Amino acid sequence: MARILVVGGSLGGLMAANLLLRAGHEVQLLERSRHSLSGRGAGIVTHDSLRTALHAAGVAAEAPLGVAVGSRVALDPQGQVLCRWDYPQVLASWGRLYELLLQALPAGRCRFGAPVAAVEQGEPGVTARLADGQSLQADLLVAADGLRSTVRAQLAPAVQPAYAGYVAWRGLCDEGCLSRHTRQTLFGHFGFGLPEGEQMLGYPVAGGGGGVRAGAGERAWNFVWYRPAAAGPELAALLTDADGLHHPEGIAPQQVSWRQIAAMRAAARERLAPQFAEIVEKTAQPFVQPIVDLVSPRMAWGRVALLGDAAMVARPHVGLGVTKAGDDALALAESIAALGATPAALARYEARRLAAGAAVVERSRRLGAYLQARGGAPSRHPHERSAEAVLRQTAIDPRLFDPESERSTPEATAAP
Ligand SMILES: Cc1cc2nc3c(=O)[nH]c(=O)nc-3n(C[C@H](O)[C@H](O)[C@H](O)COP(=O)(O)OP(=O)(O)OC[C@H]3O[C@@H](n4cnc5c(N)ncnc54)[C@H](O)[C@@H]3O)c2cc1C
Repeated sequence: MARILVVGGSLGGLMAANLLLRAGHEVQLLERSRHSLSGRGAGIVTHDSLRTALHAAGVAAEAPLGVAVGSRVALDPQGQVLCRWDYPQVLASWGRLYELLLQALPAGRCRFGAPVAAVEQGEPGVTARLADGQSLQADLLVAADGLRSTVRAQLAPAVQPAYAGYVAWRGLCDEGCLSRHTRQTLFGHFGFGLPEGEQMLGYPVAGGGGGVRAGAGERAWNFVWYRPAAAGPELAALLTDADGLHHPEGIAPQQVSWRQIAAMRAAARERLAPQFAEIVEKTAQPFVQPIVDLVSPRMAWGRVALLGDAAMVARPHVGLGVTKAGDDALALAESIAALGATPAALARYEARRLAAGAAVVERSRRLGAYLQARGGAPSRHPHERSAEAVLRQTAIDPRLFDPESERSTPEATAAP
């Protein structure tokens, strides 16, 4: 039995902590936030491998994760179906996965209000220094502390997120407040809209009360609207709150300026299918997130490993943020089972996950490349994607990846 510290109590950290506890280790999870993260987050696409990781982490195999849809549709600007693809998928919410993973963790294993400020290594172990001056010793430390990882900043300060040139407006809208037409045309599907140079998508998820029944008005619609925003004043304006305070590292949902929200809603009325415009209009608290890429050239330094978004951040087009963190957690637990809580185990983990993570980031860049083509005629941009290609390539099971077709430039396809 080894002593293992996991830094970061979001989905990646919770999967790693649960897996390592179940392997018999003494695990302590350290989360910066003073309170549980319940009630935060929006939609998460699930894949079979995420189910595998969740199950191994202690979530019952039969636990419902979210809303099942059978197909995908793209709507034209008038709201008519442009094309359709049958692809069954379960759409979860961040809050549901968080709740399941936190419940799986035995009491006393997660310390909230415990920000790690620094990490030190020296034989035979590793020490985490908390912001309040306390020190904790362990055999290994797993940094699942996200995009702006404190641990990565210490070990590899040159590795920084790179802004992709566009943002995602996101939000959750209650099904019950939407028109019958919007509910009927969208709620059975994963839906897309492709205004020039932009991309709208969304899907049904469990509503605030956790309800997922069709036709009962208890679900919510999770939308993600990708829009170009040049680095500099344009992006800064989006990340500045109504009191004029700039949040360059990301603005919290409740801080997004009402002026920016009003401008975004006006653009939705002009550019989106009426169903999507209605959803955007009726979403109480839309929020905005800059899209970034992050690839760390290493995932292990002696007795310290990076996991999930701390190591690699892929754009959301691949829908793999949580699945990738789960795959990392599985590979980490297997490597420690094979080689013990040693630097050799972490080196083996890195060898298994480094190229895989970088490939996911690269694929997400390809899928999003056309959204970076600001100005000009997007339909003539070499990376322009037809509605059908977007339907068939966004957030699909990684086993369906087809690098050949993704490198090509499919013609727009008018489908049934
Ligand atoms: C509150 C929240 C809501 C989210 N909602 C969505 C969503 O709706 N849709 C989606 O696709 N993705 C969402 N994400 C991102 C998604 O969780 C990640 O892409 C995925 O889980 C893999 O990331 P991660 O667990 O490795 O890191 P993250 O999810 O980024 O979590 C990092 C965790 O580390 C903690 N932390 C940071 N620094 C320190 C430190 N120094 N010491 C201790 N703890 C620290 C943070 O508080 C956070 O809990 C959300 C993340 C968070 C934190």
